[in-house]
Amino acid sequence: MKNKIFAQQIKQYAALLELKGENPFKLRAYHFAIEAIDKLEVDLMDLSLSEIEKISSIGKAIALKIEETKQNGIFHQLKNLLDEIPAGVVEMLAINGLGAKKINILWKENNFTTITQLLEACENNSLAQIKGFGEKMQANIYQDLLFKKSNFSKLFFAHAEEYSKILIDYLKQTIDNQYITITGQIRRKLEVVDCLQVFVETNENIDKKTIVKYLDDCNFLIKNIKECGVFVWRGEMKENGLKVEIKMPPKERIGSEIYLHSAGEKHLAKIEKNKTILEHLTEENFKQENDVFDFFQYINLPPEIREGYAEWQYIESKKIPKLLEVKDLKGIFHAHSTYSDGKNTLEEMVVACIDLGYEYLGITDHSQSAFYANGLQVGRVKSQHQEIETLRQKYPNFYLFKGIEADILYDGKLDYEDEILKTFDFVIASIHSGLKMSEEKATERIIKAIENPYTTMLGHATGRVLLRRNGYPLNMKKVIEACAKNNVIIEINASPYRLDLDWRWVHEALDKGVILSINPDSHEKNTIQEVKYGVNIGRKGGLTAEKTFNTKTGKEIAEYFENRKK
Ligand SMILES: [Zn+2]
Ligand SMILES: [Zn+2]
Repeated sequence: MKNKIFAQQIKQYAALLELKGENPFKLRAYHFAIEAIDKLEVDLMDLSLSEIEKISSIGKAIALKIEETKQNGIFHQLKNLLDEIPAGVVEMLAINGLGAKKINILWKENNFTTITQLLEACENNSLAQIKGFGEKMQANIYQDLLFKKSNFSKLFFAHAEEYSKILIDYLKQTIDNQYITITGQIRRKLEVVDCLQVFVETNENIDKKTIVKYLDDCNFLIKNIKECGVFVWRGEMKENGLKVEIKMPPKERIGSEIYLHSAGEKHLAKIEKNKTILEHLTEENFKQENDVFDFFQYINLPPEIREGYAEWQYIESKKIPKLLEVKDLKGIFHAHSTYSDGKNTLEEMVVACIDLGYEYLGITDHSQSAFYANGLQVGRVKSQHQEIETLRQKYPNFYLFKGIEADILYDGKLDYEDEILKTFDFVIASIHSGLKMSEEKATERIIKAIENPYTTMLGHATGRVLLRRNGYPLNMKKVIEACAKNNVIIEINASPYRLDLDWRWVHEALDKGVILSINPDSHEKNTIQEVKYGVNIGRKGGLTAEKTFNTKTGKEIAEYFENRKK
């Protein structure tokens, strides 16, 4: 379980207390604790109760809550509030512009208890009539609701994966590990998850009835009785509404079921032996997943590539490329320091990379037009370069590359003169503002930046933020072609909130001969390891170590940049 989950629960608890009318002043202790947890360098799971208590800003009462969450997945005070307050009201907390005060007006004075009610009130213009709301606020809430409506109860992969661990930890207390298999979106490593799926195999020690009872009694789950069946328990996570499905299929078809729930629709729709894979698996009983591969005479496909994109090519050639692994990465590009909007100093970032075993860091703070992110004016570029020279002396076995995340301006130009651009070892070109564009405009703007001889890499290609905003529309085919033609590397931005380039385009990029780089876009040293989420995305598209830029050694990278400059 990650510290994030503990912080998340305390944050939700404070918000619910505020809804209940608690004085916000009294809730400050919780906010200090959340901040303290965010900054922790150790895993709370590894600390004892007395050690947690001693952390500044945490204290006994909060330490006890953390301890209880470790045991039960949730602490009872939060569980009680979640039981008491309607789920729809809890969801309202996530809506932009709705604080506790406003939600209370809706809930206690106007009987709003569901998001659907709120949506309807926007649609028939009655929300605007409530005192303190008005037309403008109604329009903003409506817009936010529409976007969130399609995303309710969905989580980023990184977040959902943590919840799947809580679920597995709970199951493991009664069922032996070997009888538990995670399937579904988590096993396929999809960027966004709306359901946790787990298979449990009953055995001589534990039967279905006992498992169902055990799940019914779980503190952090709510059962959905209507959706449960003979072979499946369904419900949701109390804290966030994430759906949970525990399957207990008959022994003779466990293989069929696990395969069915570890592949995407496009994969299952493939016709094999006159029927779709889906039909075969529904009709035929396979005891083990491997029996399915034998039946179709397939090679053993990793679950993340069973998506109907890259795998048929591998099946045909009877060879799966050796997919990229986290351990193949030898260095890091795309990280920010206190020179722009990062939390850690340049040296702290260097030391963090060394500690993680990396050979190099390509630092890329924001460029001058990113004023909101404290982007570097020319003078500060120069002082950063001086500091880089000093650090190179201090850490002679480590490569520190001079990079910049240059804004692509509205007309497609990069936001420094060539004279400055040529002082960097490499340039990541990204769009951060003027996001509202037609597909034609966005494509033209990006291609112009790709054609700039100083551009080494394209940063977060579509500008999307998962579950928050779609990217600008882009003719990705043309963008990939331009990168191939101009020898520009495309980054897979590994931030769990972006994961951009989308994996659905990775295969296409590889086909065109484009090299990809797994970049964490870290704004603090603690998120450098998020490259693992980018590796997931690369693997989904069939990415190998050879086609990944940051699997090269520091020396090779230095030579690459040197040659490129020529
Ligand atoms: Zn950026
Ligand atoms: Zn960045």
